[in-house]
Amino acid sequence: MTSETAVSALVLDTIPYRDKDFVVRLMTPEDGVFSAMAFGARGSRTRFPSGLDRLTIIEAVLSHKGSGMPVCKMANTRNVFWRLRRDLECSAVASMLSEMLLLVHMESEESKLLFEFATTAFEQLDQGLSPGSPAAALHLSLGVLRILGFLPATVACPACPEGHQAQSYHLRSDSGALYCRDHDRPGAHRIVLTPAAVRVLRHCLTAHDLRALAVISDDYLPGSALRVMENLLPWLERTLGGRLKSFSFLRSLYAQ
Ligand SMILES: [Zn+2]
Repeated sequence: MTSETAVSALVLDTIPYRDKDFVVRLMTPEDGVFSAMAFGARGSRTRFPSGLDRLTIIEAVLSHKGSGMPVCKMANTRNVFWRLRRDLECSAVASMLSEMLLLVHMESEESKLLFEFATTAFEQLDQGLSPGSPAAALHLSLGVLRILGFLPATVACPACPEGHQAQSYHLRSDSGALYCRDHDRPGAHRIVLTPAAVRVLRHCLTAHDLRALAVISDDYLPGSALRVMENLLPWLERTLGGRLKSFSFLRSLYAQ
């Protein structure tokens, strides 16, 4: 029994397969990230006018048969993010975000939120709204972790009186919990966050899109954001369960 569905999907990756086919890694609000086979997509401009380029939003028809990989029968491009192809820095950040999305296993509710978050981020990167790409990468990484429930929604220590703001915090890299320096238990895996990093974190957790980066402060200078990112990277990779190769590209763009 074969069924067909029409979906809007984000193309996260396109892998050539045999002579004429592609395996595409798609993300939809309903089903999260999954693979689909596109037979003949490398030759057919009728069924695949856009050629299934990565980092585009497509309207696709998927055919499902049993429990196998769905087949992408045709696809039209709805959005192409041109700037992500021309601008190295934007493309580095976009690649990092798509790499993160390819690594996570998301529940259906998280898929909706992450799909919205990712498409908004790509649109905003495309419009040039990010003042520094390490800051944007940091913002997006923390946003993904927040949606997945690995980070609390606010920067606060659960053991401190409500509303109290500590100078420095420890991020527990086993649970993602935040404690002030005084209330953190010894022996735990922790990342010590400096006051500057805490300000960045607070900004990232409360502002849900990249427009927040338009408020440029010293904390958002590419160098500072890159340093915070470097500190968080091992934890980020452990949480996501894989290496983020695109980060080294971003680092090489900014390493002096
Ligand atoms: Zn505390």
